[in-house]
Amino acid sequence: MPIVTELTKILNIRVPVIQAAMQHVGLPSLAAASSNAGALGILTALTQPSPEALRKAIRETRELTTKPFGVNITLLPTINPPDYAGYARAAVEEGVRIFETAGNNPKPLIEYLKANNCIVIHKVVTIRHAKAAQKMGVDILSIDGFECAGHPGEEDVAGMVLLARAAQELSIPYIASGGFADGRGLAAALALGAQGVNMGTRFLCTVESPIHDNIKQTIVNATEKDTVHIFRTLNNTARVFKNKVSTEVVRLERRPGGAKFEELRELVSGQRGKVVYEIGDPDYGIWSIGQCAGLIKDIPTCEELVRRIESEAESVIDGLNKLKVVKARL
Ligand code: NAD
Repeated sequence: MPIVTELTKILNIRVPVIQAAMQHVGLPSLAAASSNAGALGILTALTQPSPEALRKAIRETRELTTKPFGVNITLLPTINPPDYAGYARAAVEEGVRIFETAGNNPKPLIEYLKANNCIVIHKVVTIRHAKAAQKMGVDILSIDGFECAGHPGEEDVAGMVLLARAAQELSIPYIASGGFADGRGLAAALALGAQGVNMGTRFLCTVESPIHDNIKQTIVNATEKDTVHIFRTLNNTARVFKNKVSTEVVRLERRPGGAKFEELRELVSGQRGKVVYEIGDPDYGIWSIGQCAGLIKDIPTCEELVRRIESEAESVIDGLNKLKVVKARL
């Protein structure tokens, strides 16, 4: 029996799972494979060098899948400020109707997308921001807990509490993000009132993920303790893989007087992180994974992964239902 939720109904997908946006990874091949598997694939806009390149990536994705997919636009500090409005316009003009937004001051972007009849999933790391985005008219919130890869915000509230708080406070559907990599996680998210899950690290480690096999194997070998926070002192905290470069960044930040971004720039640049994925050297630069890396033990195809998540979640839900029956008999 398929797991039907508000998320599957709003997005017209089979399984309540979104392949999370990932810088340098959310390319047409992965987005299409995720969508073909029954989840929602997401193209990461800023991975494309220009709005024109995003147009091409959208067309390429359409060649690979007839299923719905979305485009992510993340508004966070960057070394070269992107043309956010240009990316949004290009995607809307190409007929994309599902967007994931995230980051700072999203109001103008959300207003533009809503004025163009788009479904907006907005990612937040606090209930305060969730309520503000709800007022802005987003359709779905993505509640990103402390376990997540990338930017968890500065308040350090774990997903378990954040999702339960979302259940208390929000009146629109929300999904769970950060720490989810399997069907047990999906079932737990549903129990916490979420309508589905957003998974990044898990899709990063699939056959179709466009990164070097050494990096996938590094994730398989990693435990839940192999991440570290950088940029804590710059108010732009990011959870990344613990390696030589991130350890050095943390050391520089902890020096008396701390470190200015300019001093870290060469070490942390996204372009250098991209090379990690290309050459397969996990120590070459900064790259993001979440604590759920500890749950990942293999490199399945997206199809195998989504089927497995679906059947695991069903059997957990089934088990919980049986628990109720046993109790009733006591
Ligand atoms: P980049 O090369 O511009 O920057 C590298 C890192 O430094 C990023 O984490 C960025 O947030 C941070 N940074 C840049 N300028 C900063 C400043 N002045 N102060 C503090 N921190 C600063 O990043 P990129 O790899 O080209 O990625 C572009 C943007 O997308 C970044 O903001 C990045 O955080 C964000 N991102 C998005 C996703 C996603 O899923 N969409 C994933 C990872 C990163």
